[in-house]
Amino acid sequence: MTVLQNNILPQISPAYDPWDPIVSLRTHGRHLLTSVEMTVTHLCNMRCEHCAVGDMLVMKEAPFLPLDLMLKRLDEVEHLETISMTGGEPALLDKTVDEVIVPLLKYAKERGIRSQINSNLTLDIRKYEKMLPYLDVMHISFNYLNADDFYEVGFANTGRPTPRVGAVRLYEKMVENARRLSEMGMFISAESMINYRTHTKLDGIHQLINEMGCRRHEVHPMYASNFASTLPVLSLDDMRNSIHKLLDVRNQDMWMLFGTLPFFACSDREEDRKLLRRLRQEPNITVRNDPDGRNRVNVNMFTGSVYVTDFADIPAFGNIQERGLDDIFGEWLNEHPLNQTVNCHCDAAACCGPNLLVADMYYKGVDFKSRKALQL
Ligand code: SF4
Repeated sequence: MTVLQNNILPQISPAYDPWDPIVSLRTHGRHLLTSVEMTVTHLCNMRCEHCAVGDMLVMKEAPFLPLDLMLKRLDEVEHLETISMTGGEPALLDKTVDEVIVPLLKYAKERGIRSQINSNLTLDIRKYEKMLPYLDVMHISFNYLNADDFYEVGFANTGRPTPRVGAVRLYEKMVENARRLSEMGMFISAESMINYRTHTKLDGIHQLINEMGCRRHEVHPMYASNFASTLPVLSLDDMRNSIHKLLDVRNQDMWMLFGTLPFFACSDREEDRKLLRRLRQEPNITVRNDPDGRNRVNVNMFTGSVYVTDFADIPAFGNIQERGLDDIFGEWLNEHPLNQTVNCHCDAAACCGPNLLVADMYYKGVDFKSRKALQL
């Protein structure tokens, strides 16, 4: 394990995003495992319409595998640069915060790697304050113009009526927490999805994110996985138009990160390349390549199962109780036929291919390996 002093690491910024697989691809000349995401809970106080892990949420948590095993597996990852923790809502149980999250964040800090937590930020602020000294990025979802939007989206899958008043309280808590934690110096990255609900109101959502003091606004299309699989799919035209509209009104001083976009420099559609050109030319905009299966794995900390992507056809690819993560990842990278369909790379366009879900939804039958980026 290489120990670095945090103060010599570059700032996370539009010029340096260690989660982007193009960074490690350029550094090492090939894809490598540099990022490990850990699922630290399957409990959540919400049931969002679009939840990517909705079917896995539970009412009672299973026991954790020993933390030492996870730390050992992280230690073995030779080129580890980032870790992320996700759920459910990771902060729901104090025990998870104290005995899993904070120790993992301290490990990251000591090793000189970057950390992220995905949270809904709706709980007591003291839970999040415990993470503040060690955490690099607090990632939240924000797809709302007001408490009513939050109520509609955030409790769509509870299976029973949820009182509006409780939802409003959580919304207000989230907004207040985001404001106060930003003031305390926490780097909050608020993600909005482009979907059938949000594509006409991203400008207003952006403004609220700006007002809460968030440092970054992430925008990703919603893809049809899990709870979202029955929701309407947005056309590429609607998606493109909504991004242009957002760019017209955004705060140009705030970093905007677009991810998992279904637009590629190899497209013969001029309007796709025009959008990519605009994203490239405007200040404080980055387009992140999809880490899934490129430089990242997900580890379920209850079962030890390792997933390389949330593409439905790929079950767990190994288990940390049996093998190391570099080994599991290497097998996926070199041998899995599905990876061979999308692992293209056009360096001039800073692109390393589509996400499997994107390719499946919008580009069925397209052989990306035979395409090349055109002039942007
Ligand atoms: S890397 Fe793949 S998806 Fe990206 S521009 Fe090149 S061929 Fe297209």
